[in-house]
Amino acid sequence: MPIKMVMESTDQRVHMNITANQCPGCPENLATRLVMQTVFEHLKDDDPIIFGQGCGIGRDFLQRSGLGTHDSGIVGMLTAMEIRGIDRPIVVIDGDGQIDLGLEDLATAFQQGYKYLHVVCDNQAHAASGSHATGSTQPMARTGVRPSGKLRHPKHFPLMLMYSGAEYVATASTSHPQDLDRKVRAALTRLPAFIQILTPCNPSWGYDDDQGIEVSRLAVNSGMWPLYEWKDGDFRRQRIPRKATVREYVGSQRRYAHLTDDDIGLLEGYVTDLDGMLAGLERGSAA
Ligand code: SF4
Repeated sequence: MPIKMVMESTDQRVHMNITANQCPGCPENLATRLVMQTVFEHLKDDDPIIFGQGCGIGRDFLQRSGLGTHDSGIVGMLTAMEIRGIDRPIVVIDGDGQIDLGLEDLATAFQQGYKYLHVVCDNQAHAASGSHATGSTQPMARTGVRPSGKLRHPKHFPLMLMYSGAEYVATASTSHPQDLDRKVRAALTRLPAFIQILTPCNPSWGYDDDQGIEVSRLAVNSGMWPLYEWKDGDFRRQRIPRKATVREYVGSQRRYAHLTDDDIGLLEGYVTDLDGMLAGLERGSAA
């Protein structure tokens, strides 16, 4: 069913009308709306440019662009704007396909210090083309071409960029909108900046279309999607009480329906390892 997302402001320069054929309850739509709301509130006097493309972000009317080429496009835009003496903030919002297909452009633009905010809405799937895995798909999750589950651990892309030129990186979730709002505001004053937002996908993950926020909350509360932030040289995890188990998280979606008890034990080990890695970064930051 087509759904319509509209962003409007009393500021005459800010008017966006996004209409797209997205699934009802798509968390990427919500994430896009939340990010745009914060950007327009925070930068209302600076005439921000926002563009991007993704399955749940807007395939139709959020300005078209080539998947994998957003960051090289931004380099061109920033260079042209500098030559013309134009100073407008740029934000790109796209999907996690970008951390594979656009890796080279994204990492190089950050490494060379181009100042913009890149937001990835992470549904852990190429959802528009068959739900095969991306670099961020969680281990053992069933994908469109691997019903037995993905074998490898995901890329931790914000951490890669933390060591590759970013001034700010963070993970976020639409289940924690205040944390997301705060992080977008922090990112906009520390460029280049990168935020990866967990945005489950109804058809790829297999849950009812009114459960997107709950699935996101379970991911955060079980430790499968830790919230963290690297800002001003300081790495911090957001302290989220473990109110859910990994078993509850995998039980909320059909992409894990094939898991055995032993498999769930392996996923619990994955969370323990992830905790340990992030705790090490936090300790190193405090030292
Ligand atoms: S397939 Fe997934 S990401 Fe794409 S619109 Fe539907 S819920 Fe959103």
